[in-house]
Amino acid sequence: MMSVEFDNNDHFNDECGVFGVFDHAEAANLTYLGLYAQQHRGQESAGIVCTDGHSFHTHRGMGLVADIFQKSEIKELSGRHGIGHVRYSTSGDSGLRNCQPFSFEYAHGGIAMCHNGNIVNAHELRRELESKGSIFQSTSDTEVLIHLVARSKAKSMKERLAEAVNRLAGGFSLLVLGEKRLVGMRDRNGIRPLVLGQLDGSWVLASETCAFDLIGAKYVRDVEPGEMVIIDENGLESLHPLENCEPKFCVFEYVYFARPDSTLEGVNVYQSRYQIGVELAKESPADADLVIPVPDSGVPPAMGFAEASGIPFQMGLIRNHYVGRTFIEPKQSIRNFGVKLKLNPNRSLIKGKRVVLVDDSIVRGTTSRKIVEMVRAAGAAEIHMRISSPPTKHSCFYGVDTPDAAELMANKMDLEEMRKAIGADSLAFVSFDGMYKAVGKPRDVHCDACFSGNYPVAIDGPRSPQLSLLKILNKKQ
Ligand code: SF4
Repeated sequence: MMSVEFDNNDHFNDECGVFGVFDHAEAANLTYLGLYAQQHRGQESAGIVCTDGHSFHTHRGMGLVADIFQKSEIKELSGRHGIGHVRYSTSGDSGLRNCQPFSFEYAHGGIAMCHNGNIVNAHELRRELESKGSIFQSTSDTEVLIHLVARSKAKSMKERLAEAVNRLAGGFSLLVLGEKRLVGMRDRNGIRPLVLGQLDGSWVLASETCAFDLIGAKYVRDVEPGEMVIIDENGLESLHPLENCEPKFCVFEYVYFARPDSTLEGVNVYQSRYQIGVELAKESPADADLVIPVPDSGVPPAMGFAEASGIPFQMGLIRNHYVGRTFIEPKQSIRNFGVKLKLNPNRSLIKGKRVVLVDDSIVRGTTSRKIVEMVRAAGAAEIHMRISSPPTKHSCFYGVDTPDAAELMANKMDLEEMRKAIGADSLAFVSFDGMYKAVGKPRDVHCDACFSGNYPVAIDGPRSPQLSLLKILNKKQ
């Protein structure tokens, strides 16, 4: 018997999730619950920092939120303000030293930070900072921001932060906790989500609205692209310290990442997935007896496909929800073992049937091939694969861990070659038009670079916008 890493590589890996609360008696508990609700956004590590206005209290660990935080740890996190983070490493290694939030002391007091996303010019900034004497403790992008803030000569925290984020390029949502304020900020394109809510008169921030639902907070609005919200004892102040802001929200949040019960940018994730299935059925119908989802994110589009096509929906693949990252494989190798750990076909439903299999994406194609093989072995007469996103041809550089473009099946093959490679009788992807019709918002306010190759932020260098921060801050105040 041997223990091996679970084969999770044929899918997009989740990114990160953040949560913050200002001025609440149960700041640590609420942050814990906010992270718990967003566990799907990252399972490698989690951390919480709270402050009582003087000292910062931190607990971070590797693994799942419920395992890292017990009652005793939560009790130690005293204070009425807190931020927390769940992480899937998209840059930097996945060790404890890269767990967020980071907290540190500098000339102006204590500060803690965490972010969701990716700073594409972090390496260049890091080299520049190191050449000026900065010493880094981690390989995380967040630490670059910390050094930029610490080196700033600006007088107020908001000016220091504004100056620092103006050096950054990429897709990120950021939470910063000072001794007396909480700051939330999105990149100038709002690529990664950040939502604002209220609970018992206190402000809360989260990556997704599902965090608000668990704690009973009221959703107020999404933080705008390039907006900085500063929450302190005087309430909430909104600043727009970045120029050239243009919405380019990640469309793949709707297709795969976000929880279906979340609403992002005014769009309910479940509804958008369901409607993509409706569009798929109209664009690429199939003569079949059953519509079967590849769980979990294939479920809503499969339901939409079934509804629009009149073909019955059935759970023909059953998912084991308790699969860890490693498993013990028997010496005698079992065919498609890794996929079988996660999914098992319901033979009595499938045998002799023509099935439509609905999945959210094809990345390298190995998992799709194994699933098709498994469904075929369960007796399916025909298999028609339908994908609820356009072909994934390019890597993501804004916080989603995708393989190199050269490893992506759609980057190397045309549709017919892909169909043959995965062994399906037919294969179709939703079109860009179909996807955006389902989302109900125009294409030009979204990033779809992993499908189209149209990157909204240059990935080969900093944007270095030249602007007078103080002028902008003064204008907005
Ligand atoms: Fe989202 Fe794809 Fe853009 Fe990355 S490249 S932000 S996954 S749409």
